[in-house]
Amino acid sequence: MRLLKHYLKSFLFLELLKGMTVTGRYLFARKITIQYPEEKTPMSPRFRGLHAQRRYANGEERCIACKLCEAVCPALAITIDVAERDDGTRRTTRYDIDLFKCIYCGFCEEACPVDAIVETHILEYHFENRGENIMTKDKLLAVGDKYETEIAACKAADAKYR
Ligand code: SF4
Ligand code: SF4
Repeated sequence: MRLLKHYLKSFLFLELLKGMTVTGRYLFARKITIQYPEEKTPMSPRFRGLHAQRRYANGEERCIACKLCEAVCPALAITIDVAERDDGTRRTTRYDIDLFKCIYCGFCEEACPVDAIVETHILEYHFENRGENIMTKDKLLAVGDKYETEIAACKAADAKYR
């Protein structure tokens, strides 16, 4: 009896019809795919993307080399070297984030007392050469300089929900 059922199924293309029914059902349904990168899906305001280091309006870097971000990073992705300047303030001489280690948890941003290190909404970036995964202080500051307006707006919006 099982064998007969099997042959009937094969003979009448029942499996194929079942598959075509599913295809037909989705043919006219609302499409959930988009034409990326021309089209983009909405992004959560809490999205955590590429890191940036910020400056104050007078151009002075915000980071005071307290190393809290380095201490809190669960992936040990941040490496900081510190030196004292002539005016007695501390600044980083090296601030590296290894993006291959980073898990984008946002702890560094949360821990920073002066809003220096932030995670932007930038998600479209890639590496082509060995070592480009290391975001150095210069690279982080360059991202911060470029996107400061957007970062400041996000920070202001974020403050409303706290
Ligand atoms: S986002 Fe998380 S894992 Fe990445 S550098 Fe910051 S603290 Fe470390
Ligand atoms: S980025 Fe913020 S938490 Fe990290 S060393 Fe600088 S001031 Fe401290």
